[in-house]
Amino acid sequence: MQYKRILLKLSGEALMGSQQYGIDPQRLQDYAKEIKQIADKGVEVAIVIGGGNIFRGLSGASKGMDRVQGDHMGMLATVINGLALQGALEDEGMPTRLQSAIKLNEVAEPFIRRKAIRHLEKGRVVIFGGGTGNPYFTTDSAAVLRAIEIGADVILKGTRVDGIYSSDPEKDSGATKFDNISFNDVLRKGLKVMDTTAFTLSQENELPIIVFDMNTQGNLYKVVSGENIGTKVNL
Ligand code: UDP
Repeated sequence: MQYKRILLKLSGEALMGSQQYGIDPQRLQDYAKEIKQIADKGVEVAIVIGGGNIFRGLSGASKGMDRVQGDHMGMLATVINGLALQGALEDEGMPTRLQSAIKLNEVAEPFIRRKAIRHLEKGRVVIFGGGTGNPYFTTDSAAVLRAIEIGADVILKGTRVDGIYSSDPEKDSGATKFDNISFNDVLRKGLKVMDTTAFTLSQENELPIIVFDMNTQGNLYKVVSGENIGTKVNL
């Protein structure tokens, strides 16, 4: 395996599967199986999960809701997703811990960096819920922050497209895919990988990001074993 400790970022929307909202149990099970493949190889797996399948603060605010109130709802949505993913991972026989950035002691451990690292060392999959715990941030920022804190080797951003393209491949048939690209080129070309806060945090801390298609069976294993799929963003 190319990487020893990874931070996998999954969007909330990915959990919807073919639904328009919420959580598709089949998709959860598929993801759990993919994650098990790498955990069984001794890779230490931390996961940050989004909440967009349930609620986004920004879309609440666009309809007149208070932004901070909406962001709190979004952060709680990530905990709901974290609990769902935890259940699916445990059904596959994996030991797990869910840590939340917002105190919810009855349902999740509080985020404690040293404890998270200890869990990883013991082979437990650690899910970080609650984003960063602060409004006006995204779970991409949470993913980068946690990855740096736990000393992850790489951030794996699992999406439904198979990498970073010169333009939106769902709209432009002439779009070309990058295998490798530098942080500076992503910024120079105005490409969308993560929001700016998350992206620059990753750049400043020299933490590579790999964007890949998480919905193709075996892809997570391929990425972690060093196969050149998806797009790698490096210095
Ligand atoms: N959120 C937040 N602070 C954080 C992370 C998330 O306020 O540190 C809120 C924000 O409202 C966001 C929502 O939680 O829209 C869900 O997260 P995100 O949109 O990043 O989920 P994804 O797009 O990955 O499903």
